[in-house]
Amino acid sequence: MSEPSHNPAWHLDTMMVHEGTNRSSFGETSEALFLTQGHVYESGEQCEARFNDSEPGFIYARFSNPTVAMFEARMAALEGAEAARATASGMAAVTLSLMGQVKAGDHVVAAQALFGSCRYVIEEWLPRFGVETTLVDGRDLAAWKAAVKPNTKAFFLESPSNPSLEIIDIAAVATIAHAAGATLTVDNVFATALWQKPLVLGADCVVYSATKHIDGQGRCLGGVILGSNEFIDTYIKTPLRQTGPAMSPFNAWVMLKGLETFSLRVERQTRSASELADALAGHPTITKLIYPGRKDHPQAELIARQMAGGSSLIALEIAAGKQGAFRFMNALSLIKISNNLGDAKSLITHPATTTHQRFTPEQRDLMGVGEGLVRLSVGLEHPKDLLADVLQALARV
Ligand SMILES: *Cc1c(COP(=O)(O)O)cnc(C)c1O
Repeated sequence: MSEPSHNPAWHLDTMMVHEGTNRSSFGETSEALFLTQGHVYESGEQCEARFNDSEPGFIYARFSNPTVAMFEARMAALEGAEAARATASGMAAVTLSLMGQVKAGDHVVAAQALFGSCRYVIEEWLPRFGVETTLVDGRDLAAWKAAVKPNTKAFFLESPSNPSLEIIDIAAVATIAHAAGATLTVDNVFATALWQKPLVLGADCVVYSATKHIDGQGRCLGGVILGSNEFIDTYIKTPLRQTGPAMSPFNAWVMLKGLETFSLRVERQTRSASELADALAGHPTITKLIYPGRKDHPQAELIARQMAGGSSLIALEIAAGKQGAFRFMNALSLIKISNNLGDAKSLITHPATTTHQRFTPEQRDLMGVGEGLVRLSVGLEHPKDLLADVLQALARV
């Protein structure tokens, strides 16, 4: 086995093109797709050594695969993490990052403003296995503190949250978690690794849905869990190996190629989102505009402290509730109605009837998901074309 490409002096853009590349004996330019579930051994002795970890190498794609390993190495470089493990989807990453840390009798505290499936894992899935959970307003540091119990093992949050773009003080929550002897896991999908580094802010674990900006072109599902070698070895490595939510080598290859253009795309999408937010602020049909890059975001001071850039997402509250929101979405022509985000194509979502549909109106209000709220994921189209589409649609609300 050759050594994967690595040079700690490289800048981020260089790492995203070269980090982790491990060429086969054919010397291929582009990373190879190793579509194999297993590997063959020269002898019984070699096979034994692979299984008892005394010889490095690949065994079986449920544990590791050369293409998946290249993706993991590149993701670890992007995040500045010691270790990364890829999973089949973002939800597999969220579920494993939590289930790997807890057992029956433990307690988990999480922010209430979460992606719908993350809420399901916290509210319904973990309790089925005897894990107690408490949801708090993530912006209220006293609420995190008050939720701690002697059996608290893990904290979990998203910031900015999906879809209401609420910001949580990651460094402060990490301090509260550590004082309680608990860990902090951050779902960093909305900020992306370009604009926010939760591990630097004190988190113990970062998870992504790679389905979003990492693929960035709406093709494959994927997820990734990142942390220190100790965190990954203690909580993630064995459950991933033994329970099987592994990433397909094909999806890893797509994601690996996605990372080559990751910073170009996310920078451009963020710049366009920021231009669009500025152009739309104050529009009479928009009753509220939430964008983490703007000075009028209620948590602008915290954003300046913990994020290096805004977001490629904008939340808009359209006048006249659900009816107004639907009239707006139905009148869009370039921007498509869909539920993905971080895609090259700009996409609009109505969270109250889709991702957050199973909650009561009261629960949705607590999460900042009103009937008129739409989430705009800004893609790679020219921002002037996007603005023209939004304005003509608003005119028809
Ligand atoms: C999409 C998303 C997920 C789930 O990812 P999948 O790849 O769809 O499983 C988790 N968290 C957040 C914040 C998301 O946006």
